[in-house]
Amino acid sequence: MERTRKPVVHGWFTQTTGSAAEGFRLLGTKCGGCGAVFFPREDAFCRNPGCAGGDLTEVPLSPRGRVWSYTDGRYRPPAPYVSDPEAPWEPYTLVAVELEAERMVVLGQAAPGIGAADLAVGMEMEVVPGVLNEDAGTTWTTWHFRPVGVDA
Ligand SMILES: [Zn+2]
Repeated sequence: MERTRKPVVHGWFTQTTGSAAEGFRLLGTKCGGCGAVFFPREDAFCRNPGCAGGDLTEVPLSPRGRVWSYTDGRYRPPAPYVSDPEAPWEPYTLVAVELEAERMVVLGQAAPGIGAADLAVGMEMEVVPGVLNEDAGTTWTTWHFRPVGVDA
């Protein structure tokens, strides 16, 4: 059966039909009053205390940035973390990337096959479509970061 692709969080990144990275972007919002950019998106009010407020509009964020920090998760976190204790634990790598234009740091998982040993602070990264989880009918999509120039 063909699974339906659904974003794990609606409105945080552009939709894609396949795994093509081209055109895939994180989505934030920008305040028309002060120019502040928010990710995760802020749709209610500008959080800049020095701003009188303005319209918040959706903006695509920089497709690239540089590694600010990174780590890996090699063991299953304790409850309330939800996971199947019978399933083997698959290590994953977390990357904090400072986006090129916004200079804000965004967390995400590294693309499959990219481990902590492949990363270094300052390395140029790009945001790419990824898969968080799959169940019977749904592929839950998210974003991943991978080093620029690496096909994973
Ligand atoms: Zn503002």
